[in-house]
Amino acid sequence: MAGTIAIKNGYVYDPLNDINGDMMDIFIKDGKVVTELSGADMKDVKEIDAKGKTVMPGGVDSHSHVAGAKVNVGRMMRPEDHYKFYQKKTPITHSGCGYSVPSVYLGGYEYSKMGYTTVFEAAVPPMEARHTHEEMRSTPMLDMGGYLVLGNNWFLMRYLKEGDIDKAAAYISWMMRTHKTYGIKCVNPAGVENWGWGENIGALDQANIHFEVTPEEIIKGLTELNEKLGIPMPVHLHANNLGHPGCWEITRDSLKIPKNVKAKPNTDVEWAETKKNAKRHESVYLTHCQFNAFGGTSWRDFESGVKGITDYVNSVDHVVMDSGCVPFGDATVMTGDGPAIHDLYVLTGHKWSNTDVECECGSGVLPFEYLKSNPVHSVQWAMGLEVLLYVKDAWKSIMTTDSPNGGPFIKYPQVIAWLMSNKARQDTFSECHKWAQDRTDLGAETREMDLFEIATITRANPARTIGMSYRKGTLGLGADGDVAIYDIDPKSLEVNDYESIIRGFENAAYTIKAGEVVSQMGEIVAIPEKNTFYSDIATDADDEKSMLQDVKKWFKYYTLGFDRYPTPDKYLANPTPIQVNAEK
Ligand SMILES: [Zn+2]
Repeated sequence: MAGTIAIKNGYVYDPLNDINGDMMDIFIKDGKVVTELSGADMKDVKEIDAKGKTVMPGGVDSHSHVAGAKVNVGRMMRPEDHYKFYQKKTPITHSGCGYSVPSVYLGGYEYSKMGYTTVFEAAVPPMEARHTHEEMRSTPMLDMGGYLVLGNNWFLMRYLKEGDIDKAAAYISWMMRTHKTYGIKCVNPAGVENWGWGENIGALDQANIHFEVTPEEIIKGLTELNEKLGIPMPVHLHANNLGHPGCWEITRDSLKIPKNVKAKPNTDVEWAETKKNAKRHESVYLTHCQFNAFGGTSWRDFESGVKGITDYVNSVDHVVMDSGCVPFGDATVMTGDGPAIHDLYVLTGHKWSNTDVECECGSGVLPFEYLKSNPVHSVQWAMGLEVLLYVKDAWKSIMTTDSPNGGPFIKYPQVIAWLMSNKARQDTFSECHKWAQDRTDLGAETREMDLFEIATITRANPARTIGMSYRKGTLGLGADGDVAIYDIDPKSLEVNDYESIIRGFENAAYTIKAGEVVSQMGEIVAIPEKNTFYSDIATDADDEKSMLQDVKKWFKYYTLGFDRYPTPDKYLANPTPIQVNAEK
């Protein structure tokens, strides 16, 4: 039930409205932010005293693995992950378990307890879209959407090779509608297709097997098509050669490819009031930069390559990226990049799962533990923080752990503490392998983020980047009434006492979704309604018709029938299409 609520006297951080810790009231009516409530409204309004507390828009995670086939494979592979982290049912909640890969119920509750209200699933394989939606539908507390994996798709590679941009555009818009997904995910372009032949790809100008397209052609083609279609978010790129020493160079060069592609998001939505321009201007959104920023030439001389990427990002305006931080401890590595996980399997000997999703993509899953005693892991810990601290403009970066790849999202409060407190970082340096000091520059970095910057990289910017700031990541007039109130008093906050930062962000004093208090000090108190967003992209009817002839012809190579391919509305919780490219 969308609620009416008055949040009084909190210190508000709303970066999209340039509000930096001002003491003010926030009013929500019928689920939306309003400037004031009438006398009649005030009679039975729920009033929250936020005096001495931090008030932010509800958290927005623009990259997390929470639903779908490979997440579920992660659950099945890890019974040991279930023993140590579980919760009993309550009168309103389900029971649940799983530390690095929680059950769908537990995942929703845990995000909500931290003040998050919106989470986007980072990789939806087209053939697994139904499964992904089923799991998103069952994930409580959160508004959601998913990115469709298209970087090694047979039809797209073929159309790009043939230069048939109209059919490629028709294909993308049809696929988004068919699978009820939101944006384009591009994982190891051209390389995952080679993995079908037991190989990978090593250079941006290397043509892949059979299709003979290069990563460069795919990145260029997809970023251009993305803007031709007016998709709300930039192409979401997981660069080639991920997880290998020296990969930072191919990442930087990949980011250069769309430098002249102009962002043209074209959505028919009503925008909440914001002081800052809430529309994206980036043509590429690099994900989990840390994993794409390895330096050195081998594991012997492995070092951070973050600076090579952040120097470039600082010098241009078309790139935004999330960090993929490594907070140490248990993780489950899962990605659409099958060959990357195979190499990790060879390196570690851990149990490993690989999936080939027919003509469309593949994936790998592998349980992992990041140890402070391990030299490489220690460097990765430092690198994730370098990514966020070296990017000068917080509007170019987003905090993630690429959950659960770097670690589970429940570690976000710990990551925030490292970003806000140099002492927290120095204390961790003293506990971890010396490579963290010797092979990164983090030890010399003295920047300490403030709450405004934390609000930027955990809600305002993820929402803006993916084109959701018309209603999320802000407390402007007309925005969704999603609010997180943390028991952190900015006036007396002492960042050297970083445990208080962790405690404050771990359990929001209140998480409010659409004007309703849904969790309070770590306890779920209401199960709200939820929305599932997807892009409904208009396209030329003739192009779609001829494209569909191609697709149907090829469907004999799929293991399911064409009629079983689409995801019907009933698989979605409250399907919420966003009209894209609507004037066409
Ligand atoms: Zn990811």
